[in-house]
Amino acid sequence: MNERRPMIAGNWKMNLNVKESLDFARTLLKETAGVEETDVLVAPPFTALRAVGETLAGSRIFLGAQNMHWEAGGAFTGEISPSMLLDAGCSHVILGHSERRSLFGETNEMIDRKLGAALQAGLIPILCIGETLEEREGGRTFAVIEKQLEESMKGLLKTGSMPDSVILAYEPVWAIGTGKTATPEQAQEVHGFIRKWLGRTFDPGLAAKIRILYGGSVKPDNISELMAKEDIDGALVGGASLKAQSFVPIVKYARI
Ligand code: PEP
Repeated sequence: MNERRPMIAGNWKMNLNVKESLDFARTLLKETAGVEETDVLVAPPFTALRAVGETLAGSRIFLGAQNMHWEAGGAFTGEISPSMLLDAGCSHVILGHSERRSLFGETNEMIDRKLGAALQAGLIPILCIGETLEEREGGRTFAVIEKQLEESMKGLLKTGSMPDSVILAYEPVWAIGTGKTATPEQAQEVHGFIRKWLGRTFDPGLAAKIRILYGGSVKPDNISELMAKEDIDGALVGGASLKAQSFVPIVKYARI
Protein backbone atom coordinates (compact mmCIF):
# COMPACT_ATOMS: atom_id res chain seq x y z
CA MET A 1 0.00 0.00 0.00
CA ASN A 2 1.54 3.34 -0.99
CA GLU A 3 0.77 6.84 0.26
CA ARG A 4 -0.12 8.30 -3.10
CA ARG A 5 -3.66 9.64 -3.24
CA PRO A 6 -5.54 8.33 -6.26
CA MET A 7 -6.66 10.92 -8.79
CA ILE A 8 -9.35 10.67 -11.43
CA ALA A 9 -9.13 13.51 -13.95
CA GLY A 10 -11.59 14.25 -16.74
CA ASN A 11 -10.34 15.93 -19.90
CA TRP A 12 -13.40 17.40 -21.62
CA LYS A 13 -11.37 18.37 -24.70
CA MET A 14 -13.28 20.62 -27.18
CA ASN A 15 -16.68 19.64 -25.81
CA LEU A 16 -19.44 21.35 -23.76
CA ASN A 17 -20.39 25.00 -23.96
CA VAL A 18 -20.63 27.13 -20.82
CA LYS A 19 -24.17 26.08 -19.93
CA GLU A 20 -23.49 22.41 -20.56
CA SER A 21 -20.27 22.62 -18.55
CA LEU A 22 -22.04 24.26 -15.62
CA ASP A 23 -24.89 21.75 -15.64
CA PHE A 24 -22.37 18.92 -15.72
CA ALA A 25 -20.20 20.43 -12.97
CA ARG A 26 -23.27 20.76 -10.73
CA THR A 27 -24.23 17.15 -11.40
CA LEU A 28 -20.72 15.99 -10.56
CA LEU A 29 -20.72 17.99 -7.35
CA LYS A 30 -23.93 16.29 -6.30
CA GLU A 31 -23.02 12.79 -7.41
CA THR A 32 -19.48 12.74 -6.04
CA ALA A 33 -20.31 14.43 -2.73
CA GLY A 34 -18.73 12.41 0.02
CA VAL A 35 -15.95 10.98 -2.15
CA GLU A 36 -12.94 11.68 0.03
CA GLU A 37 -10.64 8.80 -0.85
CA THR A 38 -9.88 10.03 -4.37
CA ASP A 39 -8.91 13.40 -5.85
CA VAL A 40 -11.20 14.45 -8.69
CA LEU A 41 -10.31 16.97 -11.38
CA VAL A 42 -12.10 18.29 -14.43
CA ALA A 43 -10.50 20.11 -17.36
CA PRO A 44 -13.20 22.02 -19.29
CA PRO A 45 -12.51 24.08 -22.42
CA PHE A 46 -11.04 27.56 -21.80
CA THR A 47 -14.36 29.35 -22.32
CA ALA A 48 -15.99 27.48 -19.43
CA LEU A 49 -13.09 27.58 -16.95
CA ARG A 50 -14.15 30.62 -14.97
CA ALA A 51 -17.81 29.64 -14.68
CA VAL A 52 -16.97 26.06 -13.72
CA GLY A 53 -14.30 27.33 -11.33
CA GLU A 54 -16.87 29.51 -9.55
CA THR A 55 -19.25 26.57 -9.29
CA LEU A 56 -16.57 24.25 -7.93
CA ALA A 57 -15.07 26.83 -5.52
CA GLY A 58 -14.87 25.41 -2.02
CA SER A 59 -15.56 21.87 -3.26
CA ARG A 60 -13.18 18.91 -3.45
CA ILE A 61 -13.15 18.91 -7.27
CA PHE A 62 -10.02 20.47 -8.77
CA LEU A 63 -10.11 22.62 -11.89
CA GLY A 64 -7.54 22.06 -14.62
CA ALA A 65 -6.86 23.57 -18.04
CA GLN A 66 -6.05 21.48 -21.09
CA ASN A 67 -3.08 23.51 -22.29
CA MET A 68 -1.29 26.84 -21.88
CA HIS A 69 1.54 28.91 -23.30
CA TRP A 70 4.82 29.31 -21.47
CA GLU A 71 5.04 33.09 -21.86
CA ALA A 72 3.58 35.37 -19.20
CA GLY A 73 1.87 37.62 -21.74
CA GLY A 74 2.27 39.58 -24.94
CA ALA A 75 1.72 39.14 -28.65
CA PHE A 76 0.77 35.46 -28.79
CA THR A 77 -2.58 35.46 -30.57
CA GLY A 78 -4.85 32.65 -29.48
CA GLU A 79 -2.74 31.62 -26.51
CA ILE A 80 -3.40 31.58 -22.75
CA SER A 81 -0.81 32.34 -20.06
CA PRO A 82 -0.25 30.53 -16.76
CA SER A 83 -1.46 33.53 -14.74
CA MET A 84 -4.66 33.70 -16.82
CA LEU A 85 -5.38 30.09 -15.84
CA LEU A 86 -4.80 30.90 -12.18
CA ASP A 87 -7.06 33.91 -12.58
CA ALA A 88 -9.79 31.65 -13.98
CA GLY A 89 -9.52 29.42 -10.91
CA CYS A 90 -7.29 26.61 -12.18
CA SER A 91 -4.97 24.70 -9.89
CA HIS A 92 -3.74 22.24 -12.53
CA VAL A 93 -2.86 22.20 -16.22
CA ILE A 94 -2.56 19.27 -18.62
CA LEU A 95 0.62 19.55 -20.69
CA GLY A 96 1.82 17.62 -23.71
CA HIS A 97 -1.39 15.71 -24.42
CA SER A 98 -0.86 13.52 -27.46
CA GLU A 99 -3.46 15.51 -29.41
CA ARG A 100 -1.41 18.66 -28.76
CA ARG A 101 1.70 16.84 -29.91
CA SER A 102 0.27 15.18 -33.03
CA LEU A 103 -2.29 17.76 -34.21
CA PHE A 104 -0.66 21.02 -33.12
CA GLY A 105 3.01 20.26 -33.45
CA GLU A 106 3.97 20.44 -29.79
CA THR A 107 7.48 19.22 -29.21
CA ASN A 108 9.17 18.00 -26.05
CA GLU A 109 11.11 21.26 -26.03
CA MET A 110 7.90 23.31 -25.96
CA ILE A 111 6.45 21.07 -23.27
CA ASP A 112 9.60 21.54 -21.19
CA ARG A 113 9.11 25.31 -21.34
CA LYS A 114 5.46 24.94 -20.41
CA LEU A 115 6.33 22.69 -17.49
CA GLY A 116 8.79 25.23 -16.10
CA ALA A 117 6.33 28.10 -16.57
CA ALA A 118 3.47 26.20 -14.93
CA LEU A 119 5.56 25.36 -11.87
CA GLN A 120 6.88 28.87 -11.62
CA ALA A 121 3.34 30.24 -11.70
CA GLY A 122 2.13 27.81 -9.05
CA LEU A 123 0.10 25.54 -11.31
CA ILE A 124 0.36 21.77 -10.90
CA PRO A 125 1.27 20.20 -14.23
CA ILE A 126 -0.13 16.91 -15.47
CA LEU A 127 2.54 15.92 -17.97
CA CYS A 128 1.38 13.46 -20.64
CA ILE A 129 3.66 10.97 -22.35
CA GLY A 130 3.01 7.88 -24.44
CA GLU A 131 4.06 5.89 -27.46
CA THR A 132 2.28 5.36 -30.78
CA LEU A 133 1.22 1.93 -32.02
CA GLU A 134 4.06 1.92 -34.53
CA GLU A 135 6.56 2.66 -31.78
CA ARG A 136 5.12 -0.08 -29.56
CA GLU A 137 5.08 -2.64 -32.36
CA GLY A 138 8.64 -1.67 -33.24
CA GLY A 139 9.73 -2.51 -29.68
CA ARG A 140 10.54 1.13 -28.95
CA THR A 141 8.08 1.89 -26.13
CA PHE A 142 10.62 2.34 -23.35
CA ALA A 143 13.05 4.30 -25.52
CA VAL A 144 10.26 6.67 -26.59
CA ILE A 145 9.01 7.14 -23.04
CA GLU A 146 12.52 7.78 -21.74
CA LYS A 147 13.19 10.34 -24.48
CA GLN A 148 9.90 12.13 -23.75
CA LEU A 149 10.72 12.22 -20.04
CA GLU A 150 14.27 13.43 -20.59
CA GLU A 151 13.38 16.11 -23.10
CA SER A 152 10.15 17.40 -21.63
CA MET A 153 11.69 17.60 -18.15
CA LYS A 154 15.00 19.07 -19.26
CA GLY A 155 14.59 22.17 -17.08
CA LEU A 156 13.85 20.06 -14.01
CA LEU A 157 16.73 17.73 -14.82
CA LYS A 158 19.08 20.70 -14.82
CA THR A 159 17.99 21.65 -11.31
CA GLY A 160 18.26 18.00 -10.21
CA SER A 161 14.96 18.12 -8.38
CA MET A 162 11.28 18.02 -9.05
CA PRO A 163 8.34 19.09 -6.86
CA ASP A 164 6.41 16.05 -5.65
CA SER A 165 3.18 17.75 -6.75
CA VAL A 166 3.99 17.10 -10.44
CA ILE A 167 1.66 14.49 -11.94
CA LEU A 168 2.58 12.29 -14.88
CA ALA A 169 0.08 10.65 -17.20
CA TYR A 170 1.03 7.65 -19.28
CA GLU A 171 -1.28 7.67 -22.28
CA PRO A 172 -0.43 5.20 -25.03
CA VAL A 173 -1.50 7.03 -28.17
CA TRP A 174 -3.00 3.84 -29.62
CA ALA A 175 -5.41 3.62 -26.69
CA ILE A 176 -6.73 7.20 -26.75
CA GLY A 177 -10.28 7.45 -28.01
CA THR A 178 -9.95 4.10 -29.77
CA GLY A 179 -11.74 1.85 -27.30
CA LYS A 180 -8.48 -0.14 -27.01
CA THR A 181 -7.22 -0.04 -23.45
CA ALA A 182 -3.74 -1.14 -22.53
CA THR A 183 -4.07 -4.25 -20.41
CA PRO A 184 -3.39 -3.56 -16.72
CA GLU A 185 -0.14 -5.51 -17.17
CA GLN A 186 0.95 -3.41 -20.18
CA ALA A 187 0.14 -0.20 -18.31
CA GLN A 188 1.86 -1.35 -15.11
CA GLU A 189 4.98 -2.29 -17.06
CA VAL A 190 5.34 1.28 -18.36
CA HIS A 191 4.30 2.92 -15.07
CA GLY A 192 6.92 0.82 -13.27
CA PHE A 193 9.50 1.87 -15.86
CA ILE A 194 8.61 5.55 -15.36
CA ARG A 195 8.85 5.28 -11.57
CA LYS A 196 12.23 3.57 -11.81
CA TRP A 197 13.44 6.29 -14.16
CA LEU A 198 12.28 8.96 -11.67
CA GLY A 199 14.10 7.12 -8.89
CA ARG A 200 17.31 6.90 -10.90
CA THR A 201 17.11 10.45 -12.19
CA PHE A 202 15.93 12.28 -9.08
CA ASP A 203 15.67 10.06 -6.02
CA PRO A 204 13.74 6.97 -4.99
CA GLY A 205 11.96 8.78 -2.15
CA LEU A 206 10.62 11.36 -4.58
CA ALA A 207 9.74 8.71 -7.17
CA ALA A 208 7.60 6.95 -4.57
CA LYS A 209 5.55 10.13 -4.11
CA ILE A 210 4.88 11.03 -7.75
CA ARG A 211 1.43 10.14 -9.04
CA ILE A 212 1.35 8.46 -12.42
CA LEU A 213 -2.08 8.38 -14.06
CA TYR A 214 -3.07 6.03 -16.87
CA GLY A 215 -5.07 7.34 -19.82
CA GLY A 216 -6.54 5.57 -22.82
CA SER A 217 -10.15 4.38 -23.09
CA VAL A 218 -10.66 4.16 -19.33
CA LYS A 219 -14.25 3.10 -18.60
CA PRO A 220 -16.26 2.06 -15.53
CA ASP A 221 -15.62 -1.59 -16.38
CA ASN A 222 -11.82 -1.41 -16.60
CA ILE A 223 -10.90 1.19 -13.97
CA SER A 224 -10.75 -1.21 -11.00
CA GLU A 225 -8.34 -3.64 -12.61
CA LEU A 226 -6.09 -0.78 -13.70
CA MET A 227 -6.16 0.80 -10.24
CA ALA A 228 -5.25 -2.52 -8.67
CA LYS A 229 -1.78 -2.25 -10.19
CA GLU A 230 1.02 -1.08 -7.94
CA ASP A 231 2.22 1.90 -9.95
CA ILE A 232 -1.10 3.12 -11.38
CA ASP A 233 -2.26 6.02 -9.24
CA GLY A 234 -5.26 7.24 -11.14
CA ALA A 235 -6.70 7.91 -14.56
CA LEU A 236 -6.87 10.68 -17.10
CA VAL A 237 -10.20 10.11 -18.78
CA GLY A 238 -11.34 11.56 -22.11
CA GLY A 239 -14.56 10.26 -23.67
CA ALA A 240 -15.96 8.69 -20.52
CA SER A 241 -15.48 11.93 -18.56
CA LEU A 242 -18.24 13.66 -20.54
CA LYS A 243 -21.20 11.85 -19.01
CA ALA A 244 -22.04 11.47 -15.33
CA GLN A 245 -23.17 7.90 -15.95
CA SER A 246 -19.63 6.90 -16.96
CA PHE A 247 -17.46 9.42 -15.06
CA VAL A 248 -19.10 9.04 -11.65
CA PRO A 249 -18.60 5.24 -11.45
CA ILE A 250 -14.95 5.77 -12.49
CA VAL A 251 -14.54 8.32 -9.68
CA LYS A 252 -16.20 5.87 -7.28
CA TYR A 253 -14.23 2.82 -8.47
CA ALA A 254 -12.99 2.13 -4.95
CA ARG A 255 -16.55 1.65 -3.72
CA ILE A 256 -17.72 -0.82 -6.35
C1 PEP B 1 -7.37 11.41 -23.29
O1 PEP B 1 -7.63 12.08 -24.27
O2 PEP B 1 -6.58 11.85 -22.42
C2 PEP B 1 -7.98 10.10 -23.18
C3 PEP B 1 -7.44 9.23 -22.37
O3 PEP B 1 -9.09 9.88 -23.96
P1 PEP B 1 -10.05 8.58 -23.93
O4 PEP B 1 -10.34 8.29 -22.47
O5 PEP B 1 -11.25 8.98 -24.69
O6 PEP B 1 -9.28 7.47 -24.56
